[in-house]
Amino acid sequence: MQRRSTRLTKRTAESTLSATTKNAPDKKFKPSVPLQNKRKTLSRSTTPATTTTTTVKDEQEQVTTTTTTTTTAAAAAAAEKKAKKSNTVPPADWHDTFNKIKVYREHHEAVVDTMGCERLAQRDVPPKQQRFQTLVALMLSSQTKDTVTSAAVKVLQATLPGGLCLQSILAVDEAQLDHLIRSVGFHTKKAAYIKKTALILEDGYHGDIPDTIEGLMALPGVGPKMGYLALQCAWQKNMGIGVDVHVHRIANRLGWCRTEKGGPEDTRLNLQSWLPKEHWREINPMLVGFGQIMCLPRGPKCGECPVNDTCPSSSVKRKVTMDKKKLTVKQEGTSLKEIKLEQVKEETSVYFSNPKQEEVGDGESKIKKENLDW
Ligand code: SF4
Repeated sequence: MQRRSTRLTKRTAESTLSATTKNAPDKKFKPSVPLQNKRKTLSRSTTPATTTTTTVKDEQEQVTTTTTTTTTAAAAAAAEKKAKKSNTVPPADWHDTFNKIKVYREHHEAVVDTMGCERLAQRDVPPKQQRFQTLVALMLSSQTKDTVTSAAVKVLQATLPGGLCLQSILAVDEAQLDHLIRSVGFHTKKAAYIKKTALILEDGYHGDIPDTIEGLMALPGVGPKMGYLALQCAWQKNMGIGVDVHVHRIANRLGWCRTEKGGPEDTRLNLQSWLPKEHWREINPMLVGFGQIMCLPRGPKCGECPVNDTCPSSSVKRKVTMDKKKLTVKQEGTSLKEIKLEQVKEETSVYFSNPKQEEVGDGESKIKKENLDW
């Protein structure tokens, strides 16, 4: 009789849990980050007297520019205001999550580790030329996979007379340059940007690239992500975080920020408001690679992810332990009878994508059932 009661108790719990989880919200992964980029307007100045405003469809697809009048001071004030607005306290468990991803990445190579923009400049050319190659690589990289960017840079390095340098870009015909980089996204626009940039560098920077974010962002087609990455890779200056679509997506999935609708620039400002500066450089290659091999834009591998136990966007099944102290069951041919159990623990798996859902099924009231069909 005791054995039968125990068996019935188990069936009761399973039935109750099924009812509980059945009514729970859909726990399957839903990308929380809208992948389409938002248009942003950044103000920049080329000369003290004349200013240019560039309409940027995120940094990745800077393909159109319009001219208007504004001031750099106004743009800086607006950015400052935005930065203050997005200032947040650090997420409670960011450090633990950060370290887990860092350790994972140390043992799992991604494309960005060998073909990222900072790896593409030739090491046997003068530093000035290396910086120029890095800038060109960054300009080619928007809306383009690392493998494709890497191949295009190698074509330029191997094909242009004198290699990929300022003088060869100044000398090459724009249409020919467009043809050489035809594998990358928005190649025609990028060819025009690179040609214009070469002229600006020759006239205003003695053939070198700017070493300030203002100078870099004044170049056609260069936005915050490229600018801060160029400062880090070419000048070893850690002035800001390079936020691309991977960093933007993963930071939001991890719950580090809530800037899905704002775009990468809002994510950058948010991350910079709480992430210690010592991590500003490493977070880009760390999360970009993580996004290439684990937290993919579509179909993230949550089941293998080292942070799936804390990630609020995880779609993985997790073990939930339920403590049942009391069950009310109905015995054969008898009236309701209460059977007290000594803290029976049962583990079951449920899907959830929000930490709050851990509360589902917890508590005595959720597992109490008076009319059991057995
Ligand atoms: S569990 Fe890992 S792979 Fe899944 S969404 Fe979170 S960070 Fe991405």
